[in-house]
Amino acid sequence: MTKFSDLALDPRVLQAVSEAGYEIPTPIQAQAIPEALKGRDVLGIAQTGTGKTASFVLPMITILGKGRARARMPRSLVLAPTRELAAQVAENFDTYAKHTKLTKALLIGGVSFGEQDKLIDRGVDVLIATPGRLLDHFERGKLLLNGVQIMVVDEADRMLDMGFIPDIERIFQLTPFTRQTLFFSATMAPEIERITNTFLTTPAKIEVARQATASTTITQALVPLTPSRKDRSFTEKRAVLRALIAAEGAACTNAIIFCNRKMDVDVVAKSLKSHGFNAAPIHGDLDQSQRTKTLDEFRDGTLHLLVASDVAARGLDIPAVSHVFNFDVPSHPEDYVHRIGRTGRAGRMGKAFTIAVPSDDKYLKAIESLVKAEIPRGALPEGLSLDQDDGKSDRPRAERGGRTRGREDRGREDRGREERAPHKPREARAPEVKSAAEEKPAPVAQPREEPRRDRRDDRRDRRDDRREHGGAVVGMGDHVPDFILQSFKISSAAKARIRIPNPRTAPMADRKHMAPHRGASERLRLVEVRTAAIPAPGD
Ligand code: AMP
Repeated sequence: MTKFSDLALDPRVLQAVSEAGYEIPTPIQAQAIPEALKGRDVLGIAQTGTGKTASFVLPMITILGKGRARARMPRSLVLAPTRELAAQVAENFDTYAKHTKLTKALLIGGVSFGEQDKLIDRGVDVLIATPGRLLDHFERGKLLLNGVQIMVVDEADRMLDMGFIPDIERIFQLTPFTRQTLFFSATMAPEIERITNTFLTTPAKIEVARQATASTTITQALVPLTPSRKDRSFTEKRAVLRALIAAEGAACTNAIIFCNRKMDVDVVAKSLKSHGFNAAPIHGDLDQSQRTKTLDEFRDGTLHLLVASDVAARGLDIPAVSHVFNFDVPSHPEDYVHRIGRTGRAGRMGKAFTIAVPSDDKYLKAIESLVKAEIPRGALPEGLSLDQDDGKSDRPRAERGGRTRGREDRGREDRGREERAPHKPREARAPEVKSAAEEKPAPVAQPREEPRRDRRDDRRDRRDDRREHGGAVVGMGDHVPDFILQSFKISSAAKARIRIPNPRTAPMADRKHMAPHRGASERLRLVEVRTAAIPAPGD
């Protein structure tokens, strides 16, 4: 078996690796390090958790050990899609380069340019950056990339998801074509393949695990829930989540709870807190200091439950997570593998629960076909009472932005480029202040008196509204979004004054404002046509 000492690494690096407690390289390290040390380009197809960060950091430190940095001209560049991932690479660099004199700078959003400029001015050996912030520095004329000898692209598939590929291409073009490139991606989408064909030169291709392999140390369970009413799905899922966590008891030492939408991350975290759970949210709309604080608390055990979006949590290295709860079934099957891969790391045991409602069926099929196995079905936790509420009624679907495709949550995490979903968590009851002794999971939600009264009042108001607007809306239950209640009827007087243009014969310039196609819903068509109405002559 290969040992680190068999690899031609700098003795100072070997010492740091040994101090970190590692003796045997992981498969990606054993294969990638020798190729990188030969100066070859490397294409690593590997996920987080495989030790891929050290597979590029260790040879980089060894190679860079032989030269000196010049002002504003970094000698190497590592690009990561999110601030957290970039910070994680920087931590790895600090660990493994501690016996060398190499310098680094971390360029990420949410940190002042001034401090970063100072570091770059002094000259750095390793620049670790998110693509947007790096280009900002470049465009401000503070940074030259023509001294880059080694360029690393980490989590390229994530870069693709977040729309960073044009930035990556641009950065490639700004660096010398003689550079060495180490490129890592968990999957090889066609776009990623195109980039590697364009910018890598006869790379050593190293693939360590199938893209859809879930670790065998993870026990998976699918918890099917048929909500008592469609509009209670969100509420009842929260009750199931609480009951699942409570049923796991002390075995659940810490957990990541995944939601598909940022706004749900906030609501679920608030709801858990109000039930005495030690929970906090993390997603791209929170400011950087908040995200860092939450992650630090989760890592050091102060925080028990991290409620997260995919973007915020994917790729994070938190070695000991006992449980993963999928509050929502991910709509992209590969996210399932990434999510549950947060637990059961480094040979530890882990459990992953997924709450599924009937409308998730198609996503489940896609997941099961990707992982080529059926996720074992589990029962609803014992003692669960879905009658009980947590005082937070479901929002109308329209208010929540409708059914999203999961990727809505994948706003860019970089500076100023994040998807700024108009996220405004609903008012929740202020969490009760509990003493440490009381702060234990409540197995089942307690009924809340006051909010029930409020909701009845709301319903009465809505019923009155509906009467005013000419009767009930079939199939909408009590939660009829206000915009549906608005009348789009055109008065006969108005009809007489407008001419509805024919999309086939209207001038091209007008056509783009018209009803998108004949199959479009009548309501949409009516609204579109109203905007395209052309005043009749003489109007
Ligand atoms: P990564 O895939 O780079 O996120 O690494 C995942 C985890 O594996 C990190 O906590 C590393 O510290 C750890 N790790 C890296 N190399 C080794 C190794 N050779 N043996 C055991 N664990 C490792």
